Amino acid sequence: MVFKGYWALPGGRVDPGETVEQSVVREVKEETGLDVEIVRKIGEYHEIGVQDEMEYDYYPSCFLVKTISGRIKRQQEEIEEIEKIEEIEEIVAIVNDSWQLSSEEQQRIEKVRTEMGTPFCHWCAYCQPCPQKVDIPWVMNARNIDSYGEYFPLAVARAVETTKNCVQCGECEKKCPYHLPIREMMADNIKFFEEWKAQQAKI
Ligand code: SF4
Ligand code: SF4
Repeated sequence: MVFKGYWALPGGRVDPGETVEQSVVREVKEETGLDVEIVRKIGEYHEIGVQDEMEYDYYPSCFLVKTISGRIKRQQEEIEEIEKIEEIEEIVAIVNDSWQLSSEEQQRIEKVRTEMGTPFCHWCAYCQPCPQKVDIPWVMNARNIDSYGEYFPLAVARAVETTKNCVQCGECEKKCPYHLPIREMMADNIKFFEEWKAQQAKI
């Protein structure tokens, strides 16, 4: 399983006859035990990859919600990797910004920050959709290729393919909240990816 050992936000698919908003409320209830209401839609992102030998390609929607009742409780059938209830409470504290990082955690963050360099893409997907259907966030994150599962190179390869449609209009850079030089960074990452592929071919 690609994300085994990692935390994930509640999520899922829309059931027949359900609206997206209803499925959000249902999934959060099923996966955390909390009753929530929608505050607002945050946005969408594009996800492609391979799971159980099946390729997938979809645009998940993300919502900000607030708790209206209930208490977080372990949902054994939904969450396989949680060992203790305290672990869920830690996650809630992190989301609420009341979690104190240990010095070891701070060092790990600094290490990742150094590896990613400055500036870096936050994968927020505000630059999407591109009028030419370029899959910008995947290309912008191509340098993380060794940090994720085996689906990552395939997803990056498909995203790099879409950059052939780029007409250099710069619309994405106007929408990026971090003012990233997207066109320049994508060109660097494509070069990086091509070199990475050439290296893999030699192994
Ligand atoms: S510059 Fe390229 S990637 Fe950015 S919006 Fe225009 S076509 Fe899309
Ligand atoms: S390029 Fe900018 S807008 Fe697009 S995903 Fe990265 S940080 Fe977000």
